[in-house]
Amino acid sequence: MEKHTKVLIIGSGPAGYTAGIYASRANLSPMLYEGDQPGGQLTQTTEIENFPGYPEGILGQEMMDDLRKQCERYGTEIVSRTIDKVDFSKRPFVCQDDRGDVIVAETVIICTGAKARYLGLSDEEKYRGLGVSACATCDGFFYRKRTVAVVGGGDTACEEALYLSTLASKVYMIVRKDHLRASHTLQQRVFNKENIEILFKCNATGLYGEDGVEGAHIVRHLGEEKEERFDLPLEGFFLAIGHIPATHIFRGQLDLDGEGYIRVQSPTTRTSVEGVFAAGDCADPIYRQAVSAAGTGCRAAMDAERFLVDHSDL
Ligand code: NDP
Repeated sequence: MEKHTKVLIIGSGPAGYTAGIYASRANLSPMLYEGDQPGGQLTQTTEIENFPGYPEGILGQEMMDDLRKQCERYGTEIVSRTIDKVDFSKRPFVCQDDRGDVIVAETVIICTGAKARYLGLSDEEKYRGLGVSACATCDGFFYRKRTVAVVGGGDTACEEALYLSTLASKVYMIVRKDHLRASHTLQQRVFNKENIEILFKCNATGLYGEDGVEGAHIVRHLGEEKEERFDLPLEGFFLAIGHIPATHIFRGQLDLDGEGYIRVQSPTTRTSVEGVFAAGDCADPIYRQAVSAAGTGCRAAMDAERFLVDHSDL
């Protein structure tokens, strides 16, 4: 089957749904492909307390359900399938879903998101939402006056540790090397914080606890003669070892950075291909917040609308 659309939105997190709301309200009748995790990363979290407009907080799943309904109300066609092939070499763009259906699109808005990188320990899955988190800004508040650890030694890990140090009583950084990778300024700020302690040359190999995280199993000097193992009591275990943008199908078609994030011509959402726009975490290695993703989703829909007006001869 072949379908035609003015705007194809790929992905259904806050960026995708917001793009859907704006594009449908602009009478563009967009098609939105939800992908294999409808609602995106936020459906995996519990309460969201930092999205403006919800003084009591809201469940991630509930917010995504509301955004979906808002999209449909204005005429976005939501398709519960995944786009797994795109051809951006000429306009209109030809994309294909996982059933083999072809979608011919005048513009494409990519909102495929990113996934936090985890260590791959089975305990991370066991305690997810029970002490394990990959977002200090989202979950730090639950650890006021508690002991927490941040895994990683990059900019994100330092920022997360600094943020947590204003809430938690003690923050450990678990760093596998004997140095941090973060910028000099961030490192200095971390070193100057009294309640942050860096455990260099350490790896977490597991977590323990009855109903939630009560501590982590740590190995220092892994594989070396002086290897030592110890348990570190803590209640929050934050991963900050990078993110993986979901952009593999665009490799070779769009300009991506070394980590796979889509490069956009900031402050617009234009990508290296005219008529293709990117919004949300797939193009954002820095902020990665629901509200900032929603903001870029809005901008992408407006960019697509302007592109269609400028190319109305298409
Ligand atoms: P990075 O890739 O820069 O750092 C990842 C960190 O996690 C490194 O310390 C790395 O260790 C460690 N790590 C990776 N895998 C494992 C593992 N399996 N076990 C233990 N440790 C692991 O990611 P970031 O998210 O920190 O940053 C991504 C990009 O965003 C960077 O370009 C960064 O500069 C930028 N950024 C900038 C900010 C700012 O300017 N304010 C804020 C946040 C991000 P190792 O060093 O040993 O590889």
